[in-house]
Amino acid sequence: MTAQDMTQLSSDVAAKSIIWFDIDNTLYPASSRIDQLMSQRIQAYFRGLGLDHDEATRLHAKYYREYGLAIRGLTRHHIIDPVDFDQKCDGSLPLEDILKPNPALRKMLQDIDRSKARVWALTNANINHASRVLRNLGIDDLFEGVVYCDYSIPNFACKPEHEFYEHAMARAAVTNPTQCLFVDDSLKNVRAAKALGWGSSVYFREKDANRPDAEGVGVDATISDLEELRTVWAHLFKPSATEVGEGPGPSLPNGPIETTVQA
Ligand SMILES: [Mg+2]
Repeated sequence: MTAQDMTQLSSDVAAKSIIWFDIDNTLYPASSRIDQLMSQRIQAYFRGLGLDHDEATRLHAKYYREYGLAIRGLTRHHIIDPVDFDQKCDGSLPLEDILKPNPALRKMLQDIDRSKARVWALTNANINHASRVLRNLGIDDLFEGVVYCDYSIPNFACKPEHEFYEHAMARAAVTNPTQCLFVDDSLKNVRAAKALGWGSSVYFREKDANRPDAEGVGVDATISDLEELRTVWAHLFKPSATEVGEGPGPSLPNGPIETTVQA
């Protein structure tokens, strides 16, 4: 690549928006109950440290509340191997049985105009889990990169900590927060992006018969179906693709997923 090409490439990157998708319970429905299976495994991991049921439950909740992720409390207060934790918890989830390719989701991602927007994932999971989810949904080739939590790094950051969003921008070489658009099923995470001045922060709240619909306060939009992004971010979709239910459009060239390491 010539210096001129590189200058052109960097100016293209500088001009484009970047859409950040949360992964778990955003790219697949919460009704898949993957988070419950994950929680059971984490609980079992606590028990494996010699804690009784009540203490395991208490610490699991405490670490989740105080640190955002159980693994962050475990690495602070116990002698554990994060790789072992990852293998026993996320790594043992039967994702291949639960998640299947989602053609509608794939089509929505393909309909984003890549001359206007880059597409990345931003997750509190580690890269093994993130990659498995994207692969099983049949969309791994449609993400330019994944910013994830590296459990092996002491005191790693995660959403909704501002440091993690800033790290994500650095990994994607984005300097202007208004270029970032974000969708996540956690209101805390969406509000954090909004507080950092990200250009559009969208709360994904699935319809659920067991809870009332609600608008996220302090966010730019609330959606219950990712198809609604075609309207919310209409300027970033191909002109013919802003109406739900159209026929298949041209495919993007496929390529391997690029992953990034969380500092
Ligand atoms: Mg999520």
